[in-house]
Amino acid sequence: MPLSTWATDYVHLVLATGRHDPNFVDAYYGPPAWKATAETGEPKSLTALRAEAERLLAGVQAAQAGPDQAVRRDYLQGQLGAVAAHLARLAGQVLFFDDEAEALYQMRPPVTPEADFEAALTRLDQLLEGTGTVQARYQRVRERVIVPTERVDAVFQAAIHEARERTRQHATLPASDHFRVEYVRDKAWSGYNWYQGGGSSVIQVNLDLPITIDRALDLAAHEGYPGHHVYNALLEQRFAQAPPVGRGWVEFTVYPLFSPQSLIAEGTANFGIEVAFPGAERLTFEREVLFPLAGLDPQDAVFWARVQAELKLLAFADNEAARGYLDGQLDRIQAETFLMRYSLRTAAQAAQRLRFIETYRSYVINYNLGEQRVRDWVNRQGGTADQPTRRWAIFLELISSPRLPRALGF
Ligand SMILES: [Zn+2]
Repeated sequence: MPLSTWATDYVHLVLATGRHDPNFVDAYYGPPAWKATAETGEPKSLTALRAEAERLLAGVQAAQAGPDQAVRRDYLQGQLGAVAAHLARLAGQVLFFDDEAEALYQMRPPVTPEADFEAALTRLDQLLEGTGTVQARYQRVRERVIVPTERVDAVFQAAIHEARERTRQHATLPASDHFRVEYVRDKAWSGYNWYQGGGSSVIQVNLDLPITIDRALDLAAHEGYPGHHVYNALLEQRFAQAPPVGRGWVEFTVYPLFSPQSLIAEGTANFGIEVAFPGAERLTFEREVLFPLAGLDPQDAVFWARVQAELKLLAFADNEAARGYLDGQLDRIQAETFLMRYSLRTAAQAAQRLRFIETYRSYVINYNLGEQRVRDWVNRQGGTADQPTRRWAIFLELISSPRLPRALGF
């Protein structure tokens, strides 16, 4: 059987798996009847779905495929392997953090030594003046750059507008390019892009978590331009759409969240921020446009940017806390204490992050490690920071490619 037959069955399998895990199907814009079928009647048993995943893996392996289909086969194998691993997890199999990350995202997360975090804390200790712990001093500075709730929408819309304009100078977006912003509460995440198909997204922003000025631009670029919205739109255009525009590869009409695609998606969404706002351009835009719109003091912009630069490494503390907690080496209190110390979170923020870790588990590596690996890869292709136009070109090539972390040499 040709790959296209197996690809169709893969879509059905992902949709059927979604009955067992509401977080699993991140996007679907294939035939509505397929979704309706998956959601009708009794859910298929995990045993049956696991057998189906194995059948599809064997089928894809044996399918006839010309040289131009090698990348398609590799994509289907990688995604199906993750679906099989996720189904095993839903059936009760517990993997160690590193094994789970490899099974789902094709990446074994390296351990960041505690000494590296301590060194970053020492630098922040010198940077942040005043009395109290580093965490308390950081939180006081952070308070100064929280966007008042009534100004969040204006700030966010301005950030999206700028990120979109910058992206459009380099990327050919679909004519139907469109998104809608919604404000929500009571979620485990701070922002989410729900891709609807047809070049359209709904971006949700969680108002329960105070939005600092840098998060406004992070969210606009990460969820929107050139992040998740653009990633999904380009994949749809290039692969899912029928020829001659696309290739009619139906597997791209569904996006299973716990799959190797997510390392590329989150990594490029994070790295895309500095692609769109290279060097000092981000600081300039924040200071001159976003700070005044938010009613914040633009004189805080330079200092806040310096603090943010130091926090890059501390983002990896999430992986260590997650590994320790999920593998049973840290109990809840110890994991929260670790997050408070090394990611400078308050007790409430640490508890919130641990809830995210409980829900999404090894998914946390996709943000920090994904970003690092994407940056390294783009640099290796010559898209270095001093070559912004080439950086854009390589970045866009990556976000419109079906290649997964292993095939990319991540
Ligand atoms: Zn994301």
